[in-house]
Amino acid sequence: MNEQFYEKLRQILSENQIKTKEPLANHTTLRIGGEADYFVTPSTIDEIEEVTNLCKQEEIPYYIMGNGSNLLVSDEGYRGLIMKLSDNFSAYGISEDGIVRAQAGILLSKLANEIARKELTGFEFAAGIPGTLGGAVTMNAGAYDGEMKQCLTRVWVLDEDGKVIEIPKDELELGYRSSALQKRRMILLEAELKLAQGKQEQIFARMQDLNARRREKQPLDKFSAGSTFKRPEGYYAGKLISDAGLRGFQIGGAAVSEKHCGFLINKDNASAEEFLRLINEVIQIVKDKYGVTLEPEVKLLGHFNVQLHR
Ligand SMILES: Cc1cc2nc3c(=O)[nH]c(=O)nc-3n(C[C@H](O)[C@H](O)[C@H](O)COP(=O)(O)OP(=O)(O)OC[C@H]3O[C@@H](n4cnc5c(N)ncnc54)[C@H](O)[C@@H]3O)c2cc1C
Repeated sequence: MNEQFYEKLRQILSENQIKTKEPLANHTTLRIGGEADYFVTPSTIDEIEEVTNLCKQEEIPYYIMGNGSNLLVSDEGYRGLIMKLSDNFSAYGISEDGIVRAQAGILLSKLANEIARKELTGFEFAAGIPGTLGGAVTMNAGAYDGEMKQCLTRVWVLDEDGKVIEIPKDELELGYRSSALQKRRMILLEAELKLAQGKQEQIFARMQDLNARRREKQPLDKFSAGSTFKRPEGYYAGKLISDAGLRGFQIGGAAVSEKHCGFLINKDNASAEEFLRLINEVIQIVKDKYGVTLEPEVKLLGHFNVQLHR
């Protein structure tokens, strides 16, 4: 550990906001990932700004995570600082006219419930996505014909130069599971959504229906990062993988889910390397059989000895 860097972090954050040698497997839904040198949980915009400035000054690499529900972290972990924006940074406000403003760390499930309680509709799709608002905006997360793009109006980010700026939705280049935030390495601090008036009973019924559909189709009792691959144009990744005969296919402890082939799961203490080898094998076999190149939706973090097939 770099004592000097730790001491400088302590001038910004309290002791319980900083961990060293923190296993990232504890913070990812895949339950995979080695240690991060530093792991911090800031609770204010000033703290986020100061920590990133310090990392830049000291040339310590840093990475932002939310709920870790779309991350495959390497077995070696992360040499640098992980900044997790979650419960500590999750304040929100909902106005009567359907404007919602929330900090990046709030969980979508919590926000969807609060929005439903205020009789606002348009966010039901997000209730079952196990990420934070920050992760969802960055990924332009979506499900069941809904996506963040539909209800987002503007965001506040910390840009590459360390300035807090407001960006309207139209400038975020929100595409299928992508945004300018990813490309330009900006940190999402807060987002504003605009929703319509609805009937509370119908809103909760819709959320329950979508969650039931998830439970029926998806291996929610297994460790995963959701759909491992993006949907290739004109196909469904899960169907291609199933048709290729890969249902249940396993490398080490990593497996193609029996229940939904689009989900690769950590079935039995898989290492990150096994998981990546499984991703590669699936990509190769599907490409050989159908000429379609699957692209991972899951983000890789850290150093891997195996290269991702592209
Ligand atoms: C069971 C299951 C079901 C899922 N179903 C869906 C689904 O239906 N639809 C869907 O779209 N996804 C789904 N996912 C994937 C995942 O939940 C989403 O991608 C989610 O938006 C990720 O949010 P997160 O907070 O967990 O982000 P993380 O996994 O922590 O991070 C994902 C990416 O976002 C970046 N990021 C996170 N927060 C910020 C921030 N504040 N500022 C800048 N960058 C940030 C990270 O650096 C990383 O690149 C599912 C996952 C699981 C495990």
